[in-house]
Amino acid sequence: MQILEEHFISEILPKRKEDSHKGTYGKCLMIGGSARMHGAITLCAKAALRSGIGTLTLFVPSCIREIISMKLDEAMLIPAPCNEEGYFSLEATSLLEKELSQFEFVVIGNGIGRGIGARKLLETVLFSHLPCIIDGDALYLLKDYKHLLHRDAAVLLTPHPKELSYLSAYPLEEIKIHREQILAAFCETYPNVCIIAKDAKTMIAYQKDFFLNVIGNHGLAKGGSGDVLCGICAGLYGQGKDMKTSAICGVYVHAKAADLLKESMSCTSMLPSDVIEKLSDVFCLLEKREN
Ligand code: AMP
Ligand code: MG
Repeated sequence: MQILEEHFISEILPKRKEDSHKGTYGKCLMIGGSARMHGAITLCAKAALRSGIGTLTLFVPSCIREIISMKLDEAMLIPAPCNEEGYFSLEATSLLEKELSQFEFVVIGNGIGRGIGARKLLETVLFSHLPCIIDGDALYLLKDYKHLLHRDAAVLLTPHPKELSYLSAYPLEEIKIHREQILAAFCETYPNVCIIAKDAKTMIAYQKDFFLNVIGNHGLAKGGSGDVLCGICAGLYGQGKDMKTSAICGVYVHAKAADLLKESMSCTSMLPSDVIEKLSDVFCLLEKREN
């Protein structure tokens, strides 16, 4: 088990080049949101934008298109059919099938809910050949499609303990005590899957490699923190195109932003959106260290 340290993260952080353009840094499709949870995908998108993504398109239920476009200037939007409750409807699937091939990788799950529309979108993503990051409610839906994780493209799963318990079918108490063994078994079954097992001390597992993050603070113990982490990983993946490195760096950068914030802000008041605003300071620090 390797403890994550700053000099290591500085070395492996994706490097940007002068001779580059937006196409160099990834074309990401982010699928999620609902009338009840439009903040989750907004936080995820903002974090990806602040973490270097080249271009970002949001695939969201059409009922939230206006609120999303008010909040995000840099992202493009694909409004998709939704039902009366404000979740994706089944018709969203055929739209996704038409659009998906334009993108290089997918993030799915933030604020998506657990309805049939969301389920079919996840299935479509898993049947595609695109790398994907699966977070939030999509992790609950994944349980029925776990066999589809035997695909060629990379997959990153980002469960918190309850989601990992659901996904692995181990009770929460077992997860707390035997997290490493449970992750090892999962990674043996699914060798192209990288897992970020989130907690106060987050563990990253990929094949036989294990990493532990020991920084960060309880200012992150707030709804929306996980969405920010997911967005950071997406931004880094767009730049580096390697899921394990994106996961390791994403976890460290997220926690480091919270620690820098703590110098001027109480953990009581710290919000996920403050963490996003602090990302630039973290990248400055890590990029300076490397130069
Ligand atoms: P989620 O539950 O999906 O919103 O994810 C929560 C995020 O906040 C994860 O990245 C956790 O590692 C982080 N987090 C939550 N509580 C703590 C804590 N007490 N100390 C450090 N990080 C935390
Ligand atoms: Mg979450």
